Amino acid sequence: MRIEVDKNKCTGCGTCKETCPKGPVIWTIKNGKAEAGNLQFCHLCTICASKCPEGAIHVIRDGHYGEKEKVIQED
Ligand code: SF4
Ligand code: SF4
Repeated sequence: MRIEVDKNKCTGCGTCKETCPKGPVIWTIKNGKAEAGNLQFCHLCTICASKCPEGAIHVIRDGHYGEKEKVIQED
């Protein structure tokens, strides 16, 4: 999976970092733009994408962490 942030839309408001269950483990705001890292800790909950006021975040489940994806589907 991966998380894409549209830098043209992101205002650096920090809502993604504040609302993500993993917060600062995953999210950093650099030069006024959000960046997601340490994605092995991501729950794939998509809260960040749904809370971003600019619609700048896309959580893409491309099967890269297949096991985790399976767990989510079983829930
Ligand atoms: S919530 Fe959206 S606009 Fe705000 S910092 Fe995160 S990606 Fe950028
Ligand atoms: S999908 Fe959930 S755990 Fe992953 S970065 Fe977004 S809010 Fe955080």
